[in-house]
Amino acid sequence: MISPATSGSPASLHDTGGLGGHPRGLTTLFFTEMWERFSYYGMRALLVLFMTTEVAKGGLGFTDKTSAAVYGTYTMSVYLLSILGGFIADNFIGSRRAVLWGGVIIASGHYAMAVPSTATFFLGLGLVAIGTGLLKPNISTMVGSLYSAEDERRDAGFSIFYMGINLGALAASIVCGYLAQAESFRNFLGGLGLSPYGSWHWAFGAAGIGMTFGLFTYLRRASTLAHVGQAPALTAAGRPWGKLGLVLLGSLALIGIMVLSDSRPWIVLALFAAQIAAVLAFAFRPSEESRRIAAILVLFIAAQIFWAIFEQAGSSISLFAERLTDNHLFGYAFPSAWWQSINSAWVIALAAPFAWLWIKLGAKQPSSPAKFAFGLLFVGLSFVWMIPAAKLTAEGKVGPIWLLGLFFFQTVGEMLLSPVGLSTMTKLAPARLLGLVMGIWFLAAALGNKLAGVLAGEFNSSDPAALADFFLQQALIVGGATVALFALVPWVKRLMGGVR
Ligand code: GLN
Repeated sequence: MISPATSGSPASLHDTGGLGGHPRGLTTLFFTEMWERFSYYGMRALLVLFMTTEVAKGGLGFTDKTSAAVYGTYTMSVYLLSILGGFIADNFIGSRRAVLWGGVIIASGHYAMAVPSTATFFLGLGLVAIGTGLLKPNISTMVGSLYSAEDERRDAGFSIFYMGINLGALAASIVCGYLAQAESFRNFLGGLGLSPYGSWHWAFGAAGIGMTFGLFTYLRRASTLAHVGQAPALTAAGRPWGKLGLVLLGSLALIGIMVLSDSRPWIVLALFAAQIAAVLAFAFRPSEESRRIAAILVLFIAAQIFWAIFEQAGSSISLFAERLTDNHLFGYAFPSAWWQSINSAWVIALAAPFAWLWIKLGAKQPSSPAKFAFGLLFVGLSFVWMIPAAKLTAEGKVGPIWLLGLFFFQTVGEMLLSPVGLSTMTKLAPARLLGLVMGIWFLAAALGNKLAGVLAGEFNSSDPAALADFFLQQALIVGGATVALFALVPWVKRLMGGVR
């Protein structure tokens, strides 16, 4: 017998005092995560720019290659450490305290980066990665715990939560980008007798202040979460310190392996083969729990493929924006980096329609594996859409319609896969493994990020035919995965055993 992964008391069904008629705890988690993502994306937007800027202008003077390596390892680690964070919450401190301590560590990390030195920079990156590992999976499981197993509002709740993520992300690049790079702010610093090139560190500090706002919200509204995320009871066996050590070692080993895969692509293929083997191994075991784990693994593979395309926004797509797109709006030339916020803007525009759609469809909505298949379809379409754009670059820079369309398709796909994935993990996971399963969900993002880097390495901005091929080949791979997943939907639904 599997207990549903929801500790929401039946009373939560009647709590409609939060955002959009959802439990009040959703409002708390919405704003906490909004500020956490503000800090994450605000700093991330500047990370490569800061590392590659020369020392005389306040940067670190790293080469492009070194910066890209630090960036890749950092973004992967942030998501990869979610497994450790989930395990700690499940077995030691519970989600509520994990989110609190995660937030404190993240804020300390950003404040460390506000101090101008290479040592505090790396210390800060490490702290943010550890803190995010504690906060990100556990705040997501707490959203799920606000709803009982029957509560139809769950998917809609995750869509609203996702809007908070993107409100934070949208504001982050505008605010932190302004502080770090705008002439006017540098002049202001100079006017105060401070170093104008210290502007980077003011921006990192702003990220820390954002996280601090998030912590205040979380603490001030703690009573709205009183019923979820409690620490697990201490059993006679005590706390599993040995297993904790294993999870820690395993996470570090995986980071090491993925760093090695840069020069050894067969490692990536071997990882996919191992995952397919794991699906089969779990699917044919008799217990319901094993079959649900097999279902989680199928969705895990689909999510990795999805993120491998989607997370190229910051690499191949940003090069397309910089080199091949005419970045003018009503005659005003805007920085290509602004394209990074279009995805968040689309999420915000689409959040309400999606929340409405799920409520409207109610029990008639597609199953989660079907939604995942549609998510893959849309992310594949985003690259199909870019094939004519690539060909048109033969005649010069292309108009903004192409990237607007690309981000539209990708965001529709993201709305079908990402919030739905979060929600489904909370439904499929056995209660005692909830945090761990959420960590596994973010592992898909970690591996996808790394894969996105490998794929983006083939980007070619000087040969339109090769560029069209770049988009076509990846669209074909995703197309194949989409067809396979649609074909597997009935089987995965059976594995899920009643969970939609
Ligand atoms: N953009 C979303 C967030 O920051 C999803 C990231 C992910 O899971 N890869 O939460």
